[in-house]
Amino acid sequence: MTISFYNSPTITGTQVNYYLICHRKLWLFSHNINMEHTSEAVEIGALVHAHSYERKNKEIVFDGIKIDFFDKNHGVIHEVKKSKKMEESHFWQLKFYIYHFKKLGLDVSGKIDYPLIRRTQTVELTTDDEAQLERMLDDIIKINEQELPPPVIKAKICKSCSYYELCYA
Ligand code: SF4
Repeated sequence: MTISFYNSPTITGTQVNYYLICHRKLWLFSHNINMEHTSEAVEIGALVHAHSYERKNKEIVFDGIKIDFFDKNHGVIHEVKKSKKMEESHFWQLKFYIYHFKKLGLDVSGKIDYPLIRRTQTVELTTDDEAQLERMLDDIIKINEQELPPPVIKAKICKSCSYYELCYA
């Protein structure tokens, strides 16, 4: 299957992550609608990111995607997360990075690091995952092409979302 993603490589790991959390959040973010990051949780997340690989300083950016750290000796992509609360979306964000490397001819695996709870989770990309991911990427493009944002989801996670004030004004 040929997907439009590679004709227009504008999908980022964050968008894959948001797709799994809330389609409205994905749409708002994709349309460059950003809200002030004032919540304590967001600040802790930023601190975790800033300090986890402080000495290694290995963050890399390419093709519009940003990877926290790539261990080239072992072929492992690392993502740093604050907590396991959004574990599934973290998994798929990393699977998306592995998929992207694979399309570039690089065979890699992934690890999610949770420094606050001192845990590491290994992530692999199976053939089934690849098919599912390609469906997600097609879906992300369709959602972003909508003229208006998808409806508010009225979920528990809304309270910690940076778009809360916008959605519940
Ligand atoms: S506040 Fe809720 S509905 Fe609005 S973008 Fe965030 S998660 Fe989605």
